[in-house]
Amino acid sequence: MFIIFGTRGIKHTVSESPVLENSCPNCDSGSLVNKLYRRWFTLFFIPVIPLDVVDRFYECTNCKSAYNEKIKDILGQSQSVRDNAQHQARYIYAKALIATMTHMSVIDGNFAIEEEREIKEAIEQFDDIKAELTEIMERVKRDQNKDNFVFNLLNEARTELSAEAIMNILAQAGVVLLADGIIDKAEEELMKEYLIACGLPKDMYKTLIDKLQVKEIQEVN
Ligand SMILES: [Zn+2]
Repeated sequence: MFIIFGTRGIKHTVSESPVLENSCPNCDSGSLVNKLYRRWFTLFFIPVIPLDVVDRFYECTNCKSAYNEKIKDILGQSQSVRDNAQHQARYIYAKALIATMTHMSVIDGNFAIEEEREIKEAIEQFDDIKAELTEIMERVKRDQNKDNFVFNLLNEARTELSAEAIMNILAQAGVVLLADGIIDKAEEELMKEYLIACGLPKDMYKTLIDKLQVKEIQEVN
């Protein structure tokens, strides 16, 4: 299931922060402007919950890509350092995504075929690291969160990536939660733990699941 999940809000340009000219790693020509963003949690573009999260990030004037504030530390570096940082961010995202989705699949004691299909589809998007992601899936299937493996990856993603990326990981975990048609108590509790771990209110659980279910019904009809 394709979901659109994110945040929207009132953006302000931070006037005292210098604009980083022509430095967008995605489109190469855009400039990065420092923004302050009071966020709303949105699902399918509908604002759902106002978040008391005020995020500071850089936004490209051209392609609108959003970057963690840490980007300014790597922009002056060589192209290979920048490529490496970009690659590293994608790697952190993929590992947290697959670990979280798999953890959600096995928490009810049953790795359902629909759940496995969702995870394999997600792994397919990362062609160059498919083998490692498959290993992560197998490890979490076997050991779940042993040694805090899943939460450590989620926490790394929270530190290194944009809020959008985190929201996307949580929404994909929600898709897995709904994949076999049964919402187990353990799945519900785990999703709430994820929300808390990401600094979000656990009450967001109900809204998230309601919206994903409405979308599922629309897709069937
Ligand atoms: Zn750009």
